[in-house]
Amino acid sequence: MDGSEQTAAPTAKAFKSEYKPVWCPGCGDFSVLSSITKALSEWGRQTEDVAVISGIGCSSRIPAYTSVYGFHGVHGRALALATGLKVARPDLTVLATGGDGDGFSIGGNHFIHACRRNVDLTYVVMDNEVYGMTKGQASPTTSPDWTASKLTPHGTGVSPFNPLGVALAAGATFIARGFAGDPNGLAKLILEGIQHPGFAMIQALSPCITFRPEQRDWKKVVREAPVGRTDDPSRAGRMLMTDDGFNIGVLFQTQRPLYQPDLSGNVPMVDIEAKFAI
Ligand code: SF4
Ligand code: MG
Repeated sequence: MDGSEQTAAPTAKAFKSEYKPVWCPGCGDFSVLSSITKALSEWGRQTEDVAVISGIGCSSRIPAYTSVYGFHGVHGRALALATGLKVARPDLTVLATGGDGDGFSIGGNHFIHACRRNVDLTYVVMDNEVYGMTKGQASPTTSPDWTASKLTPHGTGVSPFNPLGVALAAGATFIARGFAGDPNGLAKLILEGIQHPGFAMIQALSPCITFRPEQRDWKKVVREAPVGRTDDPSRAGRMLMTDDGFNIGVLFQTQRPLYQPDLSGNVPMVDIEAKFAI
């Protein structure tokens, strides 16, 4: 090589680590892992240019199953860690991964503020409407009439959290929903999220076949969103507050200044806050 040639992008397989996932056979997270590695290969950067950060849960094991830099952090703190890393190392491509319990319950506050800050991150949430790793308790996205958990035998009686509606209200600039049963389509969404300059929220419907076996039927109801993406928050809001949670595709995309603080020091707090304004 004369120094002007570029190194070829690693294959999707090269973005996987030597470790075999310990997930239950048939778990949707296998497909999501494949979608992430396919998207990274198509993104075209080297393994050392990428970091995957997670919290705790079945899906939060993903950093161990990739060959990029990774950090398996504490519960609900994936976005805090990813934000710090991206701000300190803007040259890296940074993904945060995790589940609905990790991201929307203990990590809910970080989720809101990550949407608001618009740091250039891609957040992939494997949503199965249950805490899988701790053996099947209701999570923030569980429907109120789910009675299979011994902890909530009469259902939760509580409205489920609407992650994409919250993301829109909090200022996320890229909002998409994909499905583990459509790994190629999900890979495209993740690649678009990585390419998007700003905070990209991707809800990946990922069945937990052990504690929510009825989610095998999601493949019968998931469909392409009937309308294409919009940059109009009012239209997106109407759609996200009224859809049944099974429309997939990029649903909202807009542009807003990135939050990237001056790392040289001596930046007045008022200037930093001004960059957060929505
Ligand atoms: Fe996947 Fe559910 Fe098994 Fe966890 S418990 S690995 S989410 S199928
Ligand atoms: Mg879950």
